[in-house]
Amino acid sequence: MQNWFMRMAYKFANFMRGRRGNDEFGNFIIGVSIVLMFISFFNLQILWYIALALLVYWLFRMFSKNIPMRARENEVYLKLTANIRSWFNLQRKRWRGRKTTKYFKCKKCGSVYSLPKGKGKLKAKCPSCGEQAIHRT
Ligand SMILES: [Zn+2]
Repeated sequence: MQNWFMRMAYKFANFMRGRRGNDEFGNFIIGVSIVLMFISFFNLQILWYIALALLVYWLFRMFSKNIPMRARENEVYLKLTANIRSWFNLQRKRWRGRKTTKYFKCKKCGSVYSLPKGKGKLKAKCPSCGEQAIHRT
C-alpha cells in the first residue's frame, strides 16, 4: 500500500514538472471562491457558479505550462494588492507588539514608525523623512 502511495506521489511530481503550481494569486482565487460559496448559501446561486468558475481557473493556472504568463498574472496581482497587504502586515505587527510598542504616523510623510511603550514623552525622528516630533508613549 505504501508503495502505491509512493508511486502516486512520484507520478504526481512528474506530472507537475514544468507546470506552474500554486502561488499567491492562486491562494487569493481560492480565498475568494470559498467566500463566494459561503455567501451563495443565502439564496444567491449565481455566486456558486462564479466560485466554481474561479476554482476551474485556479486549476487551469496550477497545471498551466505557460509559466511566464502565469508569473506575470501573479506579479500584477502582487502589485495591485501591495498597499492592502502592507496595511494588513502593519496591523498584524501592531497587534503582536501591542504591549511593548506604540505606532505613530509621521505628520509630514505619512509613514508609520514605532516607539517603545511606557517611556513617557519621547522625541522621535521619522526614519523616512527626518521630521521630528514629540510623542507620549
Ligand atoms: Zn516622515
